[in-house]
Amino acid sequence: MSKPRRGSNAKKILNWRGTCPICNRKSVKILWTAIQNERSIKVCKHCGN
Ligand SMILES: [Zn+2]
Repeated sequence: MSKPRRGSNAKKILNWRGTCPICNRKSVKILWTAIQNERSIKVCKHCGN
């Protein structure tokens, strides 16, 4: 009954934490996409912008 929006959103995104392939930071949020070698890759917030 409490926090219904938080719970559903959290379950949608599961593997959002990982190592960024560009800056090699560990345990960062991989929620942004970047184009590298004509392929879209998942990157962290700093590399995504
Ligand atoms: Zn990065």
